[in-house]
Formats: sequence, C-alpha cells, structure tokens
Amino acid sequence: MYGLGMLKGLMVTFKHIFKPPTTIQYPEEVRPIPSRARTNLIWFEERCTGCSTCAQACPDGCILVATSPAEGGEFNVDRYEIDFRICMYCGLCTEACPYNAIQAGGTYKDVTDDFESMYRDKHALTKFAHDYLKENDFMYPHGQRAPKETIELIEREG
Ligand code: SF4
Ligand code: SF4
Repeated sequence: MYGLGMLKGLMVTFKHIFKPPTTIQYPEEVRPIPSRARTNLIWFEERCTGCSTCAQACPDGCILVATSPAEGGEFNVDRYEIDFRICMYCGLCTEACPYNAIQAGGTYKDVTDDFESMYRDKHALTKFAHDYLKENDFMYPHGQRAPKETIELIEREG
C-alpha cells in the first residue's frame, strides 16, 4: 500500500518521541565506563620491570622502552613512551606484559585534537596512571590494589 513505509517510519519516530534522550552532553556529562573497557592504555611505572615484552608484542611499534642496569640484576626504566598516534588499541601489549604493568582502561579525559600530544612519555603516562588510581580508590583496572608505597607517593603529590 502506498505510504505504508512512511507510516512505519513515523511509528518508530513516535515510539521514541516520549522516551528520554539517549545522547549525553559530553564533557559536562560522562557515561559510566565499564571497568574492563578498552578506552585507553594505562602504564603503571611501579609494576614495570623494563623487560620490553610489550614493545616486542606491539604490531605497530608504538612502544619505546629504554633501560639501564640497576642493582640486583634489575633495570631502571629510563624511558617508557607510547605513540598513541599510531596505536590501534588492539590490547596485545596488555596481554603480553607478564606483570600487568600496562593495562586497558581509564577515562576519556586525555581526548585531544592536538595530534602531536598523542606521543606520551613516561611522565605523561605516569600522571595519567596516578590520576586513574586516585579516582578509583587505588585499584588497578584488573582489580588489584596498588602497593602502599605507590598510594603514599600519590597522596604526597596531592
Ligand atoms: S594497543 Fe596494540 S597497537 Fe597499541 S601499543 Fe598496545 S600492542 Fe601496540
Ligand atoms: S609494561 Fe610490562 S611488558 Fe612492558 S616493559 Fe614494563 S613490565 Fe615489561
């Protein structure tokens, strides 16, 4: 029948016209983010041994790790950098890390329209990680609590 398609379309419109809107006014409003969402990569310096497994697992070569020898056969992590300009958020680095030092999660707070700022060094990554821990009762995305020293350090930072 002529016009049936149009009527069906209007029915859908009327069905939704009295429902509350599904859109939200970001950034004034922020939708709750599931704890296991792959919104971002968060690197936790205190968990990182500098083993570079994440960098080797990354198909895009986004991760740079530079270390120097430390006492007891360990490493100082002198540089840890992620190039989010080429990251595809596949999560392979998070799966490869034996120490859960890089985990998926976090907010949309570092959304930017400045392309160059998407290259983040260890200081930018650590600030993001500390903000995340502060806002989440010092719990890592995978559900473990941050160690006492890290909590104290973050509290001293204010
Ligand atoms: S999420 Fe994927 S592309 Fe991005 S840094 Fe990790 S392994 Fe590389
Ligand atoms: S984030 Fe994990 S895999 Fe990458 S260097 Fe640190 S400990 Fe190794």
